[in-house]
Amino acid sequence: MADKLTLDIVTPYGHIFTDEVDEIVATGSEGEFGVLPEHVPFLTTMKIGMLTYKKGAKTGYFFVNGGYAEVGPDKVTILADSAERSEDIDIERAKEAMKRAEERLKKQEEIDEARATAAIERSLTRVQVAERHSAR
Ligand code: ATP
Repeated sequence: MADKLTLDIVTPYGHIFTDEVDEIVATGSEGEFGVLPEHVPFLTTMKIGMLTYKKGAKTGYFFVNGGYAEVGPDKVTILADSAERSEDIDIERAKEAMKRAEERLKKQEEIDEARATAAIERSLTRVQVAERHSAR
């Protein structure tokens, strides 16, 4: 019986993370889900959100920009549009991205509102995930 889970986080920008962990909590499009070893296999789409894992006494935090999760009994693979470890998030960059999106929304001319709203959500979530790390 498996007592470890391999977590793999892959994006078009590269392989972000792989390690054996004890527990994962991620943001699926239907809400948060938790995974322990021996979980029933499933596939889900992901929302912009935080992924947390526990390994022994360590807790790790990631920003995940949507995508897919494939859950198996001993492996969770996240295929995301982009993803960063909390400690790699550039908070100033995220805030700048938010300002640009807010400006676009204010102008109201020929903007793709859904795109600007998604940029704001990425920015807010990145700041939240980065603060989780610095709060530790
Ligand atoms: P920006 O407008 O600042 O590029 P974005 O939300 O459009 O933000 P993404 O398309 O999600 O950016 O990501 C593009 C690449 O930049 C990915 O490799 C992602 O990990 C990285 N990235 C984006 N924002 C940040 C950030 N604030 N800190 C660290 N890496 C980031």
